[in-house]
Amino acid sequence: MNLIEKIRQAGIVGAGGAGFPTYFKISSAAGKVDTYIINAAECEPLIQVDKQILKCYPEQILTAAVDVANFLGAKKVVVGIKHKYKETVEVLERIIQKFDHKVEIFYLDNFYPAGDEFSLVYEITGRIIPEGGLPLEVGVVVSNVVSLLNIYNTLYEGYPVISRPISVIGEVVKPKTIVVPVGTIIKDVLTLCGGTKIKNFVVIDGGPMMGKIVSIDDVVTKRTSSLLILPVDHPVIRMKTLSEHYFLYQIKSACEQCRDCTEICPRYLLGHNFECHRIQRSVSYNVDDGLLTQAYLCCECGLCDWVCPMNLLPRRVNQTVKQKLAQRGIKNPHRRKPERVRVTKEYRKLPPERIIARFQLNEYVNPAPIELDTKEVNFVKIPLLQHIGTKAIPKVKVGDTVEKYQELASVEADKLGVGIHAPFRAKVVEVTENYISLQQ
Ligand code: SF4
Ligand code: SF4
Repeated sequence: MNLIEKIRQAGIVGAGGAGFPTYFKISSAAGKVDTYIINAAECEPLIQVDKQILKCYPEQILTAAVDVANFLGAKKVVVGIKHKYKETVEVLERIIQKFDHKVEIFYLDNFYPAGDEFSLVYEITGRIIPEGGLPLEVGVVVSNVVSLLNIYNTLYEGYPVISRPISVIGEVVKPKTIVVPVGTIIKDVLTLCGGTKIKNFVVIDGGPMMGKIVSIDDVVTKRTSSLLILPVDHPVIRMKTLSEHYFLYQIKSACEQCRDCTEICPRYLLGHNFECHRIQRSVSYNVDDGLLTQAYLCCECGLCDWVCPMNLLPRRVNQTVKQKLAQRGIKNPHRRKPERVRVTKEYRKLPPERIIARFQLNEYVNPAPIELDTKEVNFVKIPLLQHIGTKAIPKVKVGDTVEKYQELASVEADKLGVGIHAPFRAKVVEVTENYISLQQ
C-alpha cells in the first residue's frame, strides 16, 4: 500500500482548520510544490496543544514531514513556530541536526493570526496566496502538527486515528492538555479535568477568537483542538451569541466608517481586494453595490471585532453576508493575485496578549500541562462526517462487537472522505445517520 492509501485508510484529516482529508491534499499537490510547511504557530490565545505535542514528539513529526515532502517532491520542510515557544524551539533545534538540510525552522513573530495559512505562507516564503486560493497555488503545502503525528502513527506504528490531544482550559478545576478517544462526550472530558468551577458556563470548541459554541452533549472530533469553558455572561460569549437582528441593527446605527476594521484585517494587509468597512457600509444602507461578495475573502479571524471602537461585530456581519450570498447561489468571484502586501502590514502584527486583555481573558492564562496517556472512557459517539467531503457509510450494526482500530465506517474510493475507527474493544449500541456509538 502506498503512502497516500495508508493515510486515507487511517482516516487522517486536517487536525486544525476545515478538516480537509489529508490524503487528498497531499495527492493533489504531488510534483507541484517546492516547500512543505509544518504549521506550529498555534496563534489562538490560550490554546496549548501543538507546541506541547511538537516538544514531546519532535522526531516522529519531522520524520513524517520528510516522508510527505519526499512524496510531494518538495525540496524542503519548514517548521513555522513562534520564537516565544522557547522550550519547543530548543528541542527542535537539537533534533533537526538529524535531518540534514532538508528541515529548517522559521521563527515567527508573536502575532495573531500567525497560524492562518495565508499569513504563514507569506511570512515563510514571501509568496501571496491569491484571493480565495490555496497554498498549493504558490507551490506550498501546509500541515498541522497533530496531522503529522497521525501520519507517523500510521506509517510507523500501523494504527489509524482513534484519539486526539485537546487543551481543556478556562473555568475547569484542572486545566490540562489530554488525549481522549475521538467521539468522547464533552461532559466526560470536563469530568476528566475535575469538573467546572462554575455552574453557568458555555463550552467553546476551539479558541476564543475562532472557536464555536458547543453543547456538553456534543463530542470531541478529529478536529477539536481545545475546549474553552467560559461564564455564560463573558464578553466572548456575548460576541458569539448576539442575535443577527441585534448586530445588524448595531452596525446600521453606530458604524462610523473609521476603517479600523479594514486597516487591521490580515487579508487586506496581504493585498487582497477586501475592505471590511465598505461591507459594513453596504449592509448599513441595505445596498448591494457589488461589494458584498468581498465578504467571501474574510477568514473570520475576528480581529475586526477586537479593534472596532464602537464595539460592533463586523466579523459576524461578514459571516451573515456570506451565508446569504451562498443561499442565493452566488459564489466567490474574487481570484486576484496581489503583487505586493500593503506597506503597513509589518506594523499591524497584533500580539495575542492584547486580545487577551481586551476580551477579559487574563484570568485564563494558565498552564495546561500535557498528559500523554490516552484517557479511558466507556462510551463514545463517533460522527460519520468530521471533515470536508462525504459522510462515511457504517460497516457495523447494533449488537456487533468491534475490536480496537477496526474500521466502523468507510467512504467509497471515488468519493472525497475518510472512514472512522474504533478506539477500543466495544459493543456497537447505536448506529444513526450521523453517528456510531460504542459502549465498553
Ligand atoms: S471598525 Fe467598527 S466603526 Fe469602524 S468602520 Fe469598522 S465596523 Fe465601522
Ligand atoms: S474577521 Fe475581520 S479582520 Fe478577520 S479576515 Fe474577516 S474582516 Fe478581516
